[in-house]
Amino acid sequence: MEEFPFDISPMYEGERVRKGEYYVELAGPKSIGFELVRACSPDEVDDGKFTLIGPDIADMEEEGRYPFAMIYKIAGEQVEEDLEAIVERRNHDFQNYFHGYMHLNQRYDIWIRIHKDMVKNGLKSLEQIARATMMLFKNELPFIEKIEAIYITDEDAVKEELDKAMEIYRKRDERTRNLHDEDVDTFYGCLLCQSFAPTNVCVITPDRVSLCGAINWFDGRAAAKVDPEGPNFPISKGECIDPVGGEYTGVNEVAAELSGGEYTRIKLHSFFEYPHTSCGCFEVVGFYMPEVDGIGWVDRNFSGIAPNGLPFSTMAGQTGGGKQVVGFLGIGVNYFRSPKFIQADGGWNRVVWMNRTLKDRVYDDIPEDIRDKIATEDEAPDLESLRKFLIEKGHPVVERWEKEEEEKEIREEKPQPTQPTQPLPSPSTVSLPTIPQSSQFPIFQDSGKIKITFKNATIRIGKVVIEREEEKSG
Ligand code: SF4
Repeated sequence: MEEFPFDISPMYEGERVRKGEYYVELAGPKSIGFELVRACSPDEVDDGKFTLIGPDIADMEEEGRYPFAMIYKIAGEQVEEDLEAIVERRNHDFQNYFHGYMHLNQRYDIWIRIHKDMVKNGLKSLEQIARATMMLFKNELPFIEKIEAIYITDEDAVKEELDKAMEIYRKRDERTRNLHDEDVDTFYGCLLCQSFAPTNVCVITPDRVSLCGAINWFDGRAAAKVDPEGPNFPISKGECIDPVGGEYTGVNEVAAELSGGEYTRIKLHSFFEYPHTSCGCFEVVGFYMPEVDGIGWVDRNFSGIAPNGLPFSTMAGQTGGGKQVVGFLGIGVNYFRSPKFIQADGGWNRVVWMNRTLKDRVYDDIPEDIRDKIATEDEAPDLESLRKFLIEKGHPVVERWEKEEEEKEIREEKPQPTQPTQPLPSPSTVSLPTIPQSSQFPIFQDSGKIKITFKNATIRIGKVVIEREEEKSG
């Protein structure tokens, strides 16, 4: 085995390289970059060859930031175009085995940091990173018989190749357009991210691309066929329990088993009821705003504050971890193009806000009658302006408010039957109204005085006041 000046082991997955610790930062939100795998014929691949276009680590300034592209050409008897996306996703996996190296996200969102210790210990060139990555690709995915790497750090060259890569990603995403959940008997699962979100089970269907955006139904099928021991596997759909929400007996069985019982039901196209879990790799986070009864969406590139008062990073923290979190949902961008996009909750008619760049990106896929009724940070930076915007534009959620208001009035007018006196609940257990939801939301753990665990509940809190109880003297 080749010698490298850094340890290689799956135990380093999830390692973070913080500001002040990195020698260089490559790609990321403040620069540009991408990763791409191309399936080639054997004569197009020079096995083991490495090419670098642009400055190498030794030429880079300490604590500098550089554009970065990684292109791999692969060949083999079983290698076909359908496998490109799945092999590409493993770049994230394998590079995170390197001690001191952080690889985040996928496709055009990659973000790499190289720890100062790696350089101190002898890392001089990106060639060492590429060689270790190619070694892992060949060891772990034996269907790759030949592999060649081209890394680019020159800004103009990255820009030029990025345009070409975007076209390739677009074509891949297009492939599932005419195929739908009801047309197939098998969905595909992915457990790759269980290394850091142990209960996350991704379910990839023709109408629901993976939340990392990197794997569609065709990719899942190709991966499960060629690497049956790998993280992708077939899921027999079973019986359809809820065609609108997208609930299937086969998916529920797999979810219960592979999440270790954390949840037992998944509704693929629902935001509120048994939603799909999110590991942390999602391209976009959806967030519910009870004040307007609508859903907002924010992507990784948005550095501002959404109308709910939160930045992307805080919402990402709430959403990730492999749990069913009611009120937040991680998705891949291509899910916006799905005809079943959160259809259980009103689909596009429930979308009230998107950050500008995200809205521009999917603008043509938003139904025409709702397009201009969805606000961005330009029109609605906060809830007050959002409310006004929605009323002004006649957004469909406004009708929901009116209906709700009417129902409330009817309820208030109706004389309420006198309730028989109920025995008080025991002091340690407080039962709350139950909605069909399996999430647990423990709060006030180990306060020293009381522990309340809310199970199967949706909680809205307008304001929380926490006061220290003063010690009584005497
Ligand atoms: S986000 Fe889901 S589909 Fe994408 S790599 Fe992780 S587990 Fe697989």
